[in-house]
Amino acid sequence: MPLLEHTDSGLYCRAADAWIDPSRPVRRALITHAHADHARPGCDEYWAVESSEGVLRQRLGREITLHAMPYGQQFWLNQACVSFHSAGHVLGSAQIRLCVEGEVWVVTGDYKRCADPSCEPFEVVPCDVLITEATFGLPIYSWEPGERVAEQIRAWWKGDQEHPSLLFCYSFGKAQRLMAELHAIGVEDEVLLHGAVETVTRSYRAAGVPMTPSRPVSTISSKDPLAGRLILAPPSAHRSAWMRRFRSPQTAFASGWMAVRGARRRRGYERGFVLSDHADWQGLIRTVLESGASTIYVTHGQNDVLSRFLRERHGLDARPLDQLS
Ligand SMILES: [Zn+2]
Ligand SMILES: [Zn+2]
Repeated sequence: MPLLEHTDSGLYCRAADAWIDPSRPVRRALITHAHADHARPGCDEYWAVESSEGVLRQRLGREITLHAMPYGQQFWLNQACVSFHSAGHVLGSAQIRLCVEGEVWVVTGDYKRCADPSCEPFEVVPCDVLITEATFGLPIYSWEPGERVAEQIRAWWKGDQEHPSLLFCYSFGKAQRLMAELHAIGVEDEVLLHGAVETVTRSYRAAGVPMTPSRPVSTISSKDPLAGRLILAPPSAHRSAWMRRFRSPQTAFASGWMAVRGARRRRGYERGFVLSDHADWQGLIRTVLESGASTIYVTHGQNDVLSRFLRERHGLDARPLDQLS
């Protein structure tokens, strides 16, 4: 019997009687991180990493029953020994390790291997069976270090001091990483935030993440032309009524998807900065090999390409996660 199985609510561990990132309300949820496609409301009880608690409660409700665990601490759920290990994706993101009768399975959740000053670094967790994501599982994906991208963003922003610079990015994770990367290269200017970014940023500040100073753009007089200011906003605000506040801003989008030819133009941004919180092709392969796992299941993105590569080049028993049975 495999340690994990597919159910209508997502991946289920019978030995622990728990679901991993369930897609609908269940009795007991083990949560890899607080992004909306992994942490959903309505479960009776949640288990997650303690540094994810602030954002989780913001998003799922203050009153949820949450067991907040430190990284690496083992705990028993029925017959399974469970622990969370850093995934390097966003603040409080985790890989989930399950050990039952000496057999170890690890579910990576979303993860990356590049350094990120806004969250805990990725930890290699030895295991027998690894379930890895492959959002960017093609050889064309190869990331530059965050500080290099931060330098590009600073040059773009400082290159236009007559207009506001609107930089779009995901409000949880990416925006805070951008402020931490800018801080790390010596930027001390105050950055202005859309309300959705401001909410999450409060949790990051409470966790002590060093970032550039910031404040909500709504606290600044609407008469201020905001020339030379950097403003961070979620993609949903692009081309919305919210943008009327800014006079001929320059616009850009920061995302791993900016590596895809034509994506920037299709989405209508003037500039694209390639900055991802997922592993690139080399990062995925390195992670699989370092885990020592002999059986690999691949989920998200290009799961067939990566699993075929792992089979043919490395002789591993690798296949898309939907083939787990
Ligand atoms: Zn995520
Ligand atoms: Zn995800």
